[in-house]
Amino acid sequence: MGDLSQKIIGYDLWHLELPVTSRRDHGIGSVEGVCEVVVLRLTSEDGSQGYGEASPWSVFTGTPEATYAALNRYLRPLVVGAKVADRAAIMAQAAYAVAHCTEAKAALEAALLDLTGRISGVPVWALLGGKCRDSIPLSCSIANPDFAQDIDLLARLQDDGVRIVKLKTGFKDHAFDIMRLEYLAQHYPEFSVRVDYNQGLSIEDAPAQVRDVAQFDPDFIEQPVRAHHYGMMMKLRQATDVPLLADESVFGPEDMERAASEGICDGVSVKIMKSGGLTRAQTVARMAAAHGLSAYGGDMFEAGLAHLAGTHMIAATPEITLGCEFYQVSYFLSEDILEEPFKVEQGQVVVPDTPGLGGKPDEAKLNHYAVSKSVAA
Ligand code: MG
Repeated sequence: MGDLSQKIIGYDLWHLELPVTSRRDHGIGSVEGVCEVVVLRLTSEDGSQGYGEASPWSVFTGTPEATYAALNRYLRPLVVGAKVADRAAIMAQAAYAVAHCTEAKAALEAALLDLTGRISGVPVWALLGGKCRDSIPLSCSIANPDFAQDIDLLARLQDDGVRIVKLKTGFKDHAFDIMRLEYLAQHYPEFSVRVDYNQGLSIEDAPAQVRDVAQFDPDFIEQPVRAHHYGMMMKLRQATDVPLLADESVFGPEDMERAASEGICDGVSVKIMKSGGLTRAQTVARMAAAHGLSAYGGDMFEAGLAHLAGTHMIAATPEITLGCEFYQVSYFLSEDILEEPFKVEQGQVVVPDTPGLGGKPDEAKLNHYAVSKSVAA
């Protein structure tokens, strides 16, 4: 067992722009050209290091600029000089040191867990309660406005053994959504299909369009309307037998409590970038389960470091039963930042068993893709 009483003495940051291979359209916005993430590295007195990634999206969780400022200005003073052992105390202070900025808090907790795991010689899942699974079924999103490119992607997914897709809907028109659902039903009947509107429907259009889409019997329909339209979410849930999932409507445990009490959903998409950390994500999933609701392992536009953090969280959270969507590294980014590739085998994300997060970024890549950084010489 390593020494957890040692202090954290190094705190380095990189704001990255990572090139992507295609355009992704979601109900609330598009990503094209690059996706932006912020990487945090903590160093302790014996030279051990831990990494965490924040993966913001301006229309969903927040901006990379706010994330970088939260980590650089407001969270740094809580961490430098603190003991590695005092993770819970640091995170409790971080919750109120800066409002919102949940992606920054997720990166901080991931880096603290990675550092603790590396010093102690245990995987992050062991620090989160232990492991309930060795692999997690992977879902890949179908979100290209040019469906011909997604037809090529579907063939690739089939070859790779992926059998779950999430169709992103509500960004063009209803006919486009129905056409793609018909294509999937006809050509890939063995695939599990989920539908995600990312808040893309107006409250006027939502009832009829959700009813049409439900005819295809997807596993679930996710977040058809705006995050704050709890009343319409409740009505849509009552109007269809297909489970309705909340994503943007539920960030942390506080939202989960309200969503469950108002009956707006049958399940929830759990993301460390929304909840503000891995332990709070576990809390969301457990609250959902306590209310008889299902939980899905969602993600943002992430690089492999955030995928790893999410993988460890899901590996230690039996309540998350609907798989995960850590597909960006394999099917969206031009190049990942990890030294060793994020492991997906036969459509399953493989849970690492090595200390910490089980992977770390290549520092040369961090410097190559950085648009700003704060790194000690
Ligand atoms: Mg979603």
